[in-house]
Amino acid sequence: MNRNGETVSPDEFGVIERYFARKSEDSRVIVGVGDDAAVVEIGGATAVATDTMVSGVHFPDGLAGDAVGHRILAVNLSDLAAMGAQPRWCTLALTLPDVDHSWLAAFAHGFFALAAEHGVELIGGDTTRGPLSVTLHVLGSVDRDRILTRGGAATGDDIHVTGTLGDAAAGLDLVSRGRSGAGNAHVVLRSRFLTPTPRVAAGIALRGLASAAIDVSDGLLADLGHLCRASGCAASVDVERLPLSPELQELFPNRKAETWALTGGDDYELCFTAPPSRQRAIEHALAACETPVRRIGRLHVGRGVHCRRNGQSMAPPVTSGYSHFGESVAASGTAGTCGGE
Ligand code: ADP
Ligand code: MG
Repeated sequence: MNRNGETVSPDEFGVIERYFARKSEDSRVIVGVGDDAAVVEIGGATAVATDTMVSGVHFPDGLAGDAVGHRILAVNLSDLAAMGAQPRWCTLALTLPDVDHSWLAAFAHGFFALAAEHGVELIGGDTTRGPLSVTLHVLGSVDRDRILTRGGAATGDDIHVTGTLGDAAAGLDLVSRGRSGAGNAHVVLRSRFLTPTPRVAAGIALRGLASAAIDVSDGLLADLGHLCRASGCAASVDVERLPLSPELQELFPNRKAETWALTGGDDYELCFTAPPSRQRAIEHALAACETPVRRIGRLHVGRGVHCRRNGQSMAPPVTSGYSHFGESVAASGTAGTCGGE
């Protein structure tokens, strides 16, 4: 961008050159950072996703650059994971209040460390001045006959989640209350919020096994509600089966942990469905990529997401799912039902 007031400073090109222009190692990148547009040889079905993070909205003001750099890539990779896509390229739109070299160096470090883990290349972007906000656009390859969508689930399918739930909400609670305990549980929970792990390998392993998938960004009840709506089914979640980490259980009472597991956002685990006959194959495929998985419920005829404790219907926690422009998703549900109504 080059109109008056819209560039960061005469430094803009220096910033791009210093922090973001990297030599491509991918022969399919024909033109990378530095021209008017990047050019890539895509070939085949391509998944495309974009996510924005605004300081003070999606992460606390003053968050360290490396966490912001890691997180913006992680949340986008999580969207690709939920489609069963192999991430390939991305572009980065960065709005900065000023040129803070130590923040930028940390941002680039967090960003490129995760990018290297997943073989993703930054091929372009935009750099402007304004309140801190970061937008990433990612492209990934999918097998067009085995795309994971939200809409493929059927009545009778099992509901599974990867990893553990509620940790990121607990981590955000610790970060925003300035609780900087040095114990291992504090460190684990904070890092689950600050530097989430996108389940890319799991998404790819679930191609052809899962009937539907979504990533848990807004809370299990809200996101499973989206899957149910798209698939035209209802869900029953057995709350005693929710996977809670030892760290979450160590620092917080059980009911609080359970509420966060149902309604807390930012875990970036995968919630997916599959016919019960595929249980063994799923366990096998996810063990091969070292991804824990837990069956947490089942789909049935109807609408919405219902919670059960030891087989008995129970009212879900009242708040569920972050919405920027509306009420929380569960607030509009009826007792015992939430999300997807
Ligand atoms: P234009 O004015 O043509 O939009 P820019 O000055 O915005 O060009 O960008 C110059 C080059 O640097 C382009 O190739 C663009 O894709 C790249 N670029 C700009 N900002 C970033 C960034 N934050 N990360 C990666 N590449 C960037
Ligand atoms: Mg530009």
